Amino acid sequence: MNRDEQLRFARQLILPEVGGKGQQRLLNARVLVVGAGGLGCPATLALAGAGIGHITIADPDTIEMTNLHRQLAYTEEDLGRPKADVLAREAQRRGCRQALAIRKRLDSSHLAPLMREVDLVLDGSDNFETRFAVADACVRGHRPLVYGAITGFSAHLFLQPAGGEPCLRCLFEAPPTDAMSCADAGVLPGATTMVGGLMAQAAIGIILKSWSLPWGSLQVGELRQFRWRQIDLQPRSDCQCTSEPT
Ligand SMILES: [Zn+2]
Repeated sequence: MNRDEQLRFARQLILPEVGGKGQQRLLNARVLVVGAGGLGCPATLALAGAGIGHITIADPDTIEMTNLHRQLAYTEEDLGRPKADVLAREAQRRGCRQALAIRKRLDSSHLAPLMREVDLVLDGSDNFETRFAVADACVRGHRPLVYGAITGFSAHLFLQPAGGEPCLRCLFEAPPTDAMSCADAGVLPGATTMVGGLMAQAAIGIILKSWSLPWGSLQVGELRQFRWRQIDLQPRSDCQCTSEPT
């Protein structure tokens, strides 16, 4: 760490859970963020601020006016630009040494090789097809997954252990067909920023390994009354994550 980095990270270096060794872990960490929207923006900015050294951001979309109220990394000047590019630029501005952009909707063919290049994955994407592809790739590639979702005032957070058991399919089995998106249900910027921030916090906890995390349980938040409940999930015996790899 150089002198500038010591100053930049001073307020987290004094945490016993971080310290010099922990900061080095953060600087060496490689994180994939899927979705550069309401959750991906605050999560990525918090990861970059904490000094995560390598962040890869995947999103196929360009920035639209309806994104600006909650996707706080973007301004009117960025309208029409690819989200992944702009968020990668903002991450580098905030202390990330290397931020890469993938301007694609990821499927299993992209995800399998990517797993070898990252230590963990954050998923804040906006569709269940991508979410299941990401969760499956994490099981197969043995990478931990931080899953965040928000609809209206309802938040979901799930930490899928490397290798699953339980995985997202233990929870849902298949993509729900009646799921509503932010475009259908609406959402407030404070809510997305909070959940994205918690996703970054969980990711940093995974990298530091200095506190215990609620692996395999679903956190369900009601964001008007600040009520959270935890649902402990059991691996399904017929799920892909519990079967021996072939
Ligand atoms: Zn499973």
